[in-house]
This record gives sequence, structure tokens and C-alpha cells, in this order.
Amino acid sequence: MRVRLRNPDREVELAGGRKIHDVLGELGINPDTVLVIRERELLTREDRVGEADVIEIRPVISGGSGGNRMKCRRCKAPAVVELRRHNAAFCADCFLRHVREQVKRAIEGHEMLEPSDRILVAVSGGKDSLALWDILLELGYRADGLYLGLGIGEYSERSHRIARSFADERDARLVEVDLARDYGFDVPTAGKKGSRSTCAVCGLSKRYVFNRAAREGGYDVIATGHNLDDEAATLLGNTLRWQTDYIARQSPVLPAEEGFARKVKPLYRLSELETAAFAFLRGIEYVVEECPLVGGNTQLRYKDAMNHLESNSPGTKAQFLFGYLDRAAPLFATQDEVELVGCERCGQPTTGRFCAFCRAQAQILGERLGAPRSERDERGEPSDRETAESLSDEVMPVEIYGTVPR
Ligand code: AMP
Ligand code: ZN
Repeated sequence: MRVRLRNPDREVELAGGRKIHDVLGELGINPDTVLVIRERELLTREDRVGEADVIEIRPVISGGSGGNRMKCRRCKAPAVVELRRHNAAFCADCFLRHVREQVKRAIEGHEMLEPSDRILVAVSGGKDSLALWDILLELGYRADGLYLGLGIGEYSERSHRIARSFADERDARLVEVDLARDYGFDVPTAGKKGSRSTCAVCGLSKRYVFNRAAREGGYDVIATGHNLDDEAATLLGNTLRWQTDYIARQSPVLPAEEGFARKVKPLYRLSELETAAFAFLRGIEYVVEECPLVGGNTQLRYKDAMNHLESNSPGTKAQFLFGYLDRAAPLFATQDEVELVGCERCGQPTTGRFCAFCRAQAQILGERLGAPRSERDERGEPSDRETAESLSDEVMPVEIYGTVPR
């Protein structure tokens, strides 16, 4: 039997005539972290494969490389997806329904969206954001896409092509911003020139561009494809370091503030396995390979750790995240109101004279921004670090996105 593995792409020959469970066991792969595909069909742990079969084992983790046939819980047809956390399996149709129900529940439970809202979905070309866009359109929302070109070689070009053709196939509108064209730098150069790590500038640029594109395009809300695994891993990272201010801001919805559009994460109740299976079953082409620049970053290690816990106790991730949201989040809420003003260069909200993005951009391009800060700091104004932190609503641990300059 031929087995095709991804990230990195390779093929191995293994004995067939046994269950997927055993094949994955031999390869040391956790079944909750992969889709197993034969032709156009998804297989569960209990499915058998033959000697002549060719199967693909496709990882579902973003951020790096990493008995009898079951019956559908709802309709008893043969199942194609097993969700151990829900102690359930679903056929394709019931699974698609399950995913849409989880998204509706997220939207209603946190009052994320109004039917009349104009939504800007940030689409990276990956499974999560394309699945999200697909679901919002299916649910009848007015959702346009936003693709940000980061200039990461062939990876970005492929992501762009995929986002573009998704939009074209549905006659949907895709707003396109390109860092190099519109702001004069790309992520690989920024990582080398500025004082921030590559992932830090990339994260900062995304937050900045998403907000600016939403505000300037007249959108009410920005939706991103962050899923349960992303959110649980981020919460774990922030908790291990007791980054209480980041923990406090970790929420499936961040309400609009002066100069900031509302931000929502409607997939936070769904695991990566669920979003990957959804995209596959909907025939959505997505970029399977991961960003070549992240190479085994910390976020990935947290996801890995959570997957270990999850494999012995299904439901751990969901308990950790949902328990936080239901019971612990109020304990971290802070009142400190910062006063926001328009950045002197770009007009986006900031607590200092220039926003963190403009400061990073100037540093990368070797430009000077206004007068030295020493005088202002003596007057007790916020330091660059405080400014950048107040803008960082993505709540990523410093260790992942790097430190901000002092
Ligand atoms: P990441 O920061 O790669 O974990 O992605 C988190 C979310 O940000 C994705 O689900 C998308 O909604 C959005 N996103 C990431 N990269 C891009 C991009 N290049 N263009 C637009 N949206 C993106
Ligand atoms: Zn600015």
C-alpha cells in the first residue's frame, strides 16, 4: 500500500489489509491531527485499507509541518468523520450541518454579527479562513474577502491564486492588499531589517492592514479563521507566562472601539480537524503547506502539547478554552482605559504619536519619523513598548511574535 505524507511531501510503502488506526500507529501519528484520504473519500480510524490502496495522510495543524465502520450519529449512514471530543461520528452531510451549527452557535452566543453587517473576512488561502468565508456566504451574510500579500515567495503566490479563484467561483468580492506594493516592504525583508522577528512584523502587519482595510472600506466587522486549536494554544502560551493583559483580551469577539473595527472569530468552537474536513468535503481547494518562515515555532509546540493531552482525554482543549471563556475571563477583565489618538502619519488609532506599524515600517525602510522621543517620555507619555502592547490584540505570547522595541 502506498502512503503519501505531506509537509514535507514524501511517500512510503506499508503493509495494507488493516485498519487506519494500525497504519497511523505504525507511523506514530495521532489520528486527531490528520485527515486520511483515499481518492475523494475521507477514512476514519476504523476503516480498513487494502494492499493496492493509495492513501494520503494530510496534517491539519496550521503553523508548521507536523471494529466496524462507524455510523453517523444523526442519520446512521456510514460515517466519514469521527469527533472523539463529541463522542460522535458523522456522515458528510450531517458533518457539514454540524459545522454550520457550531458557527451559528458561536455567532449567536457572542452576538458577533447582525444580518445587515458588512463583513470583511481575512482569507489567507488556508483551510480555516476559506471554510469561514464559505460558511458565512452559505448562511446568507454579506461577506467580502480580504487577502494580504505578504511577499513570502511561491507560498504567497499560491495562497493568492487560491483565494482569488475561490472568490471568482462564487462571484464574491476579494479586496487585495499587497505589503510590498502598498507599503514598500515584504515580510522576509522586514524580518531581516527591523528589530522585530519575522513573525512579529507579519502579525503586526496583518492586524494593521485588516483594521485599516475594514475602516476604509466601510465594513462593520473583520472575521478571521482562528479555530479552537489556535485559541487553546494561544491561551496555553499566555497562561504559562501569566500574560494577564493578553489573557484578558482573548475573546471570540472584540467590540469596536474608536478607530477599531469589531473583530470576530466564528470558528473558535471548531477544531482544525473539523475545519480541514469541512473544507475537503465542500471541495474547497486550499493551501496545505505551511508558511516556510515559521519553522517549528512556539505556537506549534503548544498545539502539539494540547494534542497529546487531547489524545488521552478527548475534550481537553475545548474544556480549557470554553471554561476560560465561561468562568475565568471575567476574573481577568481590566478597566484601564487608554486614550487613543490618530497616528500622525497614517491616521490609524494609537496611544502615541505614531502607530506601531508606521514605526516598524519607517525602521525597515530606514526613514525617520518626527522628533526624538526622549522629551516626550519625560512628560510621562506611553513608551513604544506600551504603545505596541496596547495595539496587540492578537494576544500572541511575546516568545512567539518576538519582543517590541523599547
Ligand atoms: P495566522 O495568523 O496565519 O494564524 O492566521 C490567522 C487568521 O488570520 C487566518 O485564519 C486568516 O483569517 C487571517 N490571515 C492570515 N494570513 C492572512 C493573509 N495573508 N491575508 C488575509 N488574511 C490572513
Ligand atoms: Zn500609523
